Amino acid sequence: MQLANYIGGRFQPALSGATLDDIEPATGERVAVVPASRAEDVDAAVRAARDAATGAWGAASTAERADLCDAIADAIAADLDRFADLESRDTGKPLRVAKTVDIPRAIENFRFFAGAVRHSATEMHEMADAINYTLRRPLGVVGLITPWNLPLYLLSWKVAPALATGNAVVAKPSEITPLTAHALAETIDRLGAPKGAFNLVHGYGHEVGAAMTAHPGIDGISFTGGTATGKHVGASAGATFKKVSLELGGKNATLVFEDADLDRVLPDIARASFLNQGQICLCGSRILVHRSIHDRVVEGLAAIAKGYRIGDPRDPDTTFGSLTSHAHREKVEGYLALAVQEGGTIVTGGRRPQVPPALANGAFLEPTVITGLGIACRTATEEIFGPVATVHPFDTDAEAVAMANGVQYGLAASVWTRDLARAHRVAAALETGMVWVNCWLKRDLRVPFGGVKASGVGREGGKYSLGFYTNDKNVCIQL
Ligand code: NAD
Repeated sequence: MQLANYIGGRFQPALSGATLDDIEPATGERVAVVPASRAEDVDAAVRAARDAATGAWGAASTAERADLCDAIADAIAADLDRFADLESRDTGKPLRVAKTVDIPRAIENFRFFAGAVRHSATEMHEMADAINYTLRRPLGVVGLITPWNLPLYLLSWKVAPALATGNAVVAKPSEITPLTAHALAETIDRLGAPKGAFNLVHGYGHEVGAAMTAHPGIDGISFTGGTATGKHVGASAGATFKKVSLELGGKNATLVFEDADLDRVLPDIARASFLNQGQICLCGSRILVHRSIHDRVVEGLAAIAKGYRIGDPRDPDTTFGSLTSHAHREKVEGYLALAVQEGGTIVTGGRRPQVPPALANGAFLEPTVITGLGIACRTATEEIFGPVATVHPFDTDAEAVAMANGVQYGLAASVWTRDLARAHRVAAALETGMVWVNCWLKRDLRVPFGGVKASGVGREGGKYSLGFYTNDKNVCIQL
């Protein structure tokens, strides 16, 4: 496949002609040649977006914008199998995960924000001799930068509210997983959206991403990615007074109390560790377990980890695919070596699995459970972002909360208990943006999504996204 940038309604190569290779991680083979764009391409996209924001797209009504989002949702739904196939090839995730999680969520994101703007209202504040009302205006041109783990799922989580609220978009997907972003551009093009409303610029983060965050013609940046990158993005966007939303890394605790119904919840706890090969910012990679049930939890998790069917992501029976790239697998393997140095015991996993010859060059790695590590060691506190869970015993609720909070991150946590009072108490004490009780990754798109501490700034979801992509303007009228 030969991918292209999509700028001002035209598919075009990088202005310099430079390209980069997109590798299928399950086979190690090239799937696409992708523009390696630079600042000049970003500049062209920003100009096209500005023209749209001040032209036909800026003049579109709320109903027209919502209709476009619904039409995008319908078009992706009609093409679900192709989108899922592209996502699976690009990321190494099982096709069944792409079909049942990634692409359905992308569809839902467009439908949800179409409905959200159709039904949103602004406020009026009455005084004795005046009234105030609030106008809500799009920011103008927004830059959307996304990672490789849930490519279309996360890109659509930004594109949908940005378009629905009337912004023109310059989007940059991860250079590692550009396929579904390209397919989205083709879809939007086919639907005849106003030129320049949606622009796509492919390339490396330090070139395209950095040019976007520094560009004076971009009014807001919504970024999802790693914490180290987020620091650069925040600093650069701050220097040009852009509105910024940062969804960053996590090292999320799973707190399992002695009264949890283990037979029922262990599969969910394992899923929280290993879904998408553990490459979800919300994955529970630090499992804190009451000492009285520690061994049962370790045995149960290990049994589930051993039961995954690792192999060809396209095989409908595969439940565990490859990591997203070979470089990423090396990073994760570096943490496995570190865990052993730090005194940990690998209870299960930790190796490259046996796979069919066609996948011999794939970036596969077994799901891994580690015990015996100190709670403050690097393996237990740094984000690994792979299929690696460490298990740590605790004795009291207070100790469990202190252990959970003892990291620089604060994205999410899950609490497993049948004691409702304990659930409320612990949820309130956790330093995170999100807490799940007896569930994980249950998502209502209206609720605030985001983290505290080094996990980010700002919230996405429902009215929070609508708020981010707009500026409120108060009008005060003397009666
Ligand atoms: P990354 O930070 O390396 O890259 C994310 C995006 O930023 C990519 O498109 C990349 O090209 C771009 N980028 C890189 N350098 C840049 C720069 N200097 N300026 C602007 N953009 C730049 O992250 P990744 O490895 O693609 O994704 C994994 C990370 O994303 C993990 O840390 C994970 O926790 C995080 N993540 C967070 C959430 C969340 O909602 N909080 C969701 C998914 C992933």
